[in-house]
Amino acid sequence: MTLSSNPDSSTESVGRVRSPRTPPQKWQSAVVLEVIKEAPDAVTLRLQLSETSGFVAGQYYNVRLDVAGRPRPIQRSYSVGSAPLPDPFVIDLGIKETPGGLISPRLVRDFDLGSRLEVRGPTGRFTWTGDDREPVLLVGAGSGVVPLMSMVRFASASGLEIPVTLVCSSITYDHAFYREELALLATQHCWLRVVHSVTRDPHETRALYHRRIDATMLSEVLNGTIPPHAYLCGPPAMVETAAAALNEFGVNPERVYSEKYD
Ligand SMILES: Cc1cc2nc3c(=O)[nH]c(=O)nc-3n(C[C@H](O)[C@H](O)[C@H](O)COP(=O)(O)OP(=O)(O)OC[C@H]3O[C@@H](n4cnc5c(N)ncnc54)[C@H](O)[C@@H]3O)c2cc1C
Repeated sequence: MTLSSNPDSSTESVGRVRSPRTPPQKWQSAVVLEVIKEAPDAVTLRLQLSETSGFVAGQYYNVRLDVAGRPRPIQRSYSVGSAPLPDPFVIDLGIKETPGGLISPRLVRDFDLGSRLEVRGPTGRFTWTGDDREPVLLVGAGSGVVPLMSMVRFASASGLEIPVTLVCSSITYDHAFYREELALLATQHCWLRVVHSVTRDPHETRALYHRRIDATMLSEVLNGTIPPHAYLCGPPAMVETAAAALNEFGVNPERVYSEKYD
């Protein structure tokens, strides 16, 4: 099921619809409040919105930029990494530079305090509210961790205390989005477990695994438990591998939600 207006990426949700469809929204000019370096090739753009009806953890915004030689602005989708509370008028978009890309290199390099960026949203049904208070497994690779961080921050900010396991895959530990905040949150909250895997640094001691996410890794992380819900986000191959593994372990496929993008 394609949910994005971005023609170059795909997103799909498997399972129950967990948030209502949002009505068509207008473009608005958001102001950059802060640029946070997340990794050598990634930033968070913290944006001040002038209008919002709130969002649900896991949703994304579309952004558009004029590109020389193109008759119309080019749109891309970026997930919100911040929590919907306390202030949904301030959103963090986590952006990783895609080499040779039209839009992401400009978002990563060219925006500064006070810059303006046209955005429209929120949208997407890859959402988590924790309403059923059941444990959840989150699996993300690269910038796929961004919407999962919104879920973790939402759980923390709203005091949900639901068991959350987050598996993050990055090329090196220094490329892992939000690594310091996640380490801190995991020490503050006994309900949160964060497991890092790095694919290009076999000696990284802060990572438990040193390879791509696979069935054996997820089996060890779950240690015989079957998560009632799982959210998978990242490159298609990772999402498909994780979904197949969870299916094999007996996780209800209707409760495995996925969003695919490189
Ligand atoms: C729902 C959703 C949420 C998303 N959330 C995030 C997020 O939180 N963070 C994030 O970083 N990304 C996210 N993405 C991905 C993001 O929308 C963009 O797809 C990504 O940033 C790349 O865009 P770009 O314009 O930089 O690259 P593009 O211009 O789309 O190029 C992508 C790749 O294709 C290659 N390419 C382009 N044109 C050609 C051509 N003619 N021939 C050969 N190769 C070509 C480029 O070299 C590049 O490697 C999300 C996507 C979706 C669908």
